[in-house]
Amino acid sequence: MRKKIVAGNWKMNNDSQQTETLLEELLSKKPENTIAKIVVAPTFVNLQAAVKQTAGSNIIVAAQNMHQAESGAYTGEISVNMLKSIKVNTVILGHSERRAYFHENNALLAQKVTTALAHNLTVIFCFGEELADRQSGNHFNLVESQLREGLFHISESDWASVVLAYEPVWAIGTGETASPEQAQEMHAFIRSLLHTNIGSKIAEETSILYGGSVKPDNAREIFSKPDVDGGLIGGAALKADDFLAIVAGI
Ligand code: 13P
Repeated sequence: MRKKIVAGNWKMNNDSQQTETLLEELLSKKPENTIAKIVVAPTFVNLQAAVKQTAGSNIIVAAQNMHQAESGAYTGEISVNMLKSIKVNTVILGHSERRAYFHENNALLAQKVTTALAHNLTVIFCFGEELADRQSGNHFNLVESQLREGLFHISESDWASVVLAYEPVWAIGTGETASPEQAQEMHAFIRSLLHTNIGSKIAEETSILYGGSVKPDNAREIFSKPDVDGGLIGGAALKADDFLAIVAGI
């Protein structure tokens, strides 16, 4: 069976005290009563404390980004080995905000993916179309090219360390959610791409998360769709009760 995953992308929110408080709340409310894998992605500066605080729990701590190079003169950047050295073994790559505001394109993301997988990190690979792509009917093509150019170069054995996160840009932070049918339609398309290009076993075993204005009141219906294996949550992941209500919708 595919893994069910609910991941909270905290983006550039929560200082060190707020990070500790939110984790304390999550831990005290017994998130272990779930079949879902729970992931939280605080900012870089709070990762180490988050790893320590969640040790022994079922909460996995992920980074929101990393650099593609092993090390070197890249002022302000964070390498894969720095993450591993503080026991962060999961990284989000390709988030639409990284693509839009930091000019990360498919070719760069392909390098980041290669580096992360070479060091045995789990990659949550994000992609998704903008509103104009959907309005012009180009959304399937766009998603296909993001996957082909950013991800499909990896080896067969690396797929076990990849989680896909479809996040239509028009639904991120807008309150506008893809309907459960729209999410299912795209997720089924993505899985069919994996069937055709990668292989049936990998297609059936790869988790595909949906992200974009997932809230406690719409999570259950979205997660009920056969090709939706969980969610990547932004705003609603910043409140313990909302996030755990979403987890309960799995
Ligand atoms: P929202 O849930 O705030 O729409 O953000 C989704 C997202 O970008 C998660 O990575």
